[in-house]
Amino acid sequence: MSSVRAVISDFGGVLSSPLAPAFAAVQAESGIPSAALGAAMSRLAERDGRHPLYELECGRITEHDFLERVGREVAAEVGHPVEMHEFSTRWFAALETNHVMVDYLRGVAERGYRMAILTNNVREWEPRWRSMLPVDEIFELVVDSAFVGMRKPDPAIYQLTCERLGIPPEACLFIDDFEHNCAAATELGLTAVHFRTTDQAIEEIESALD
Ligand SMILES: [Mg+2]
Repeated sequence: MSSVRAVISDFGGVLSSPLAPAFAAVQAESGIPSAALGAAMSRLAERDGRHPLYELECGRITEHDFLERVGREVAAEVGHPVEMHEFSTRWFAALETNHVMVDYLRGVAERGYRMAILTNNVREWEPRWRSMLPVDEIFELVVDSAFVGMRKPDPAIYQLTCERLGIPPEACLFIDDFEHNCAAATELGLTAVHFRTTDQAIEEIESALD
């Protein structure tokens, strides 16, 4: 074994299929122009001084409030009411499990590495994302932004994850599909693998574990 003793994985876009196509499918189904949702969130962030997605992911607003706020803003933008309350159903219908990655990480766990998930997520979505993979069989720890009130790339959430594992950052490997989340991890001393494809990620994880 290398100096790495623990593997900390993101969920969305790593243990699931890529997020961008899922997002595009949801927008197409809801008839919302592709740029409208992001633009609506940016306007709300400017106006309120708080980004609605970050508020949602930190568990400070409910999914219902988030969809109401963003839905109103998108409606104002496109000039007609939009249906937002089907968002999560559509989202999870568009998202698949990355079985190759999940099976690979099960093997890593069996090799004796300590395993955790560190996810920016939505409180109300916990049963849905958890049902996509055998979380408790592979991972001893889940740190979910919506339950701890902070989100990646806040250094404190990585520190909390390492503390809860009882493993120093220098002995932790972190996997995420967002480069800025990886950069924050590296800054704290974790080894980071920026997930771009399953094959590339597995190859880089293997060379870090060797
Ligand atoms: Mg992700």
